[in-house]
Amino acid sequence: MKLLIILIFSGLTTGFTENSSSSYPSKLLLVSFDGFRADYLQNYDFPHLQNFIKEGVLVEHVKNVFITKTFPNHYSIVTGLYEESHGIVANSMYDVVTEKHFSDFNDKDPFWWNEAVPIWVTNQLQGNRSSAAAMWPGTDVAIHNVTLSYFMNYNASVSFKERLNTITAWLSNSDPPVTFATLYWEEPDASGHKYGPEDKKSMSTVLKEIDDHIGDLVHKLKMSGLWENLNVIITSDHGMTQCSVERLINLDDCINRTTYTLIDLTPVAAILPKINTTQIYNKLKMCHHHMNVYLKEDIPARFHYQHNDRIQPIILVADEGWTIVLNKTLTKCDHGYDNSLPSMHPFLAAHGPAFHKGYKHNTINSVDIYPMMCHILGLKPHPNNGTFGNTKCLLVDQWCINLPEAIGIVIGVLLVLTTLTCLIVIMKNRLSAPHAFSRLQLQEDDDDPLIE
Ligand SMILES: [Zn+2]
Repeated sequence: MKLLIILIFSGLTTGFTENSSSSYPSKLLLVSFDGFRADYLQNYDFPHLQNFIKEGVLVEHVKNVFITKTFPNHYSIVTGLYEESHGIVANSMYDVVTEKHFSDFNDKDPFWWNEAVPIWVTNQLQGNRSSAAAMWPGTDVAIHNVTLSYFMNYNASVSFKERLNTITAWLSNSDPPVTFATLYWEEPDASGHKYGPEDKKSMSTVLKEIDDHIGDLVHKLKMSGLWENLNVIITSDHGMTQCSVERLINLDDCINRTTYTLIDLTPVAAILPKINTTQIYNKLKMCHHHMNVYLKEDIPARFHYQHNDRIQPIILVADEGWTIVLNKTLTKCDHGYDNSLPSMHPFLAAHGPAFHKGYKHNTINSVDIYPMMCHILGLKPHPNNGTFGNTKCLLVDQWCINLPEAIGIVIGVLLVLTTLTCLIVIMKNRLSAPHAFSRLQLQEDDDDPLIE
């Protein structure tokens, strides 16, 4: 009973907190350090980031979406959708109907982004608020004809400091107020590609720089008076895996270049056949035992990577650490592999009034971040593939309990109630038992007289 009362009371207080906080507009800054593999946190020192986590929450592994590339995963974070649903299915795409191409350097056509509505658009359309971006894939594109109130055109040569100063200024002084903002930085992805995640010496240098950037971020937010009331999420799009010249898959050994158009190469190759698809598929199938070959209709359901015209008729997925090439050279290490591999996962840390302090959580999905952000900002989310319940334990205004725990509590309560009922029944039976009958039995069994 006591437990039930506590549960009911918790529910009531949760409801009260939600109602009472909804009248104050929350602010959220979403930060991405590209290619920040989850286990960097265990293998390198991050004093500033660890301080941030100590006063906030940490999700050790974020299961991201397939393919584990930059543009698709950044768009999943801000839409809550798998790639087949938001339409950014790779960093390099081709649309057969319109004959349009998409690449890192040709990404401004809204056509590619309009299959989903990112949170910065929703934020500007629901209420008197604005959104700002110191870069993030898609933020310099007019998606659904909505341009962010404040944004920077993508330019890799703009320093972290300049991005930080700009976004802080926008968060501090703007009308209507900026309630959602993004900040993007290209490292440690660039160094991960160049050196590989196992090059401890080189990676420790770049990861120390990242930690210093996090120190600068916190310092700047404190100096600007934003720190106490601002919710800050620091996360990433994917991890990185070690490559080797010993692990190359040469496509030229399998099929003739004249028989297909190559839309994307590694570690997930997208093949658009010029001749019979089955013929090319059969050749590729026999090509290399470290390369999985799928016809579009046979792509495993767990990838959620099938139902979109931009996914090509054949895709090739290299095993972890293997690189698909068109010649024998290897230029860089990579990510993009199967999203069930821990090396592909990023982490998430968060701090602010919406989050608990000093709480650690094992895992969430990257598509769960979107409904959580909508909740914090008080926005009505668009239909998405995320589950808000997966992030409840991170939030102060939510009552957090998972299904196994709930089942355990119900079973425990039932056991206690059953035991109590049994005890009461036994006690009652004992008290009401007829004494005369007992004595009669004793007399029958008692052959020996007590007194001779
Ligand atoms: Zn990336």
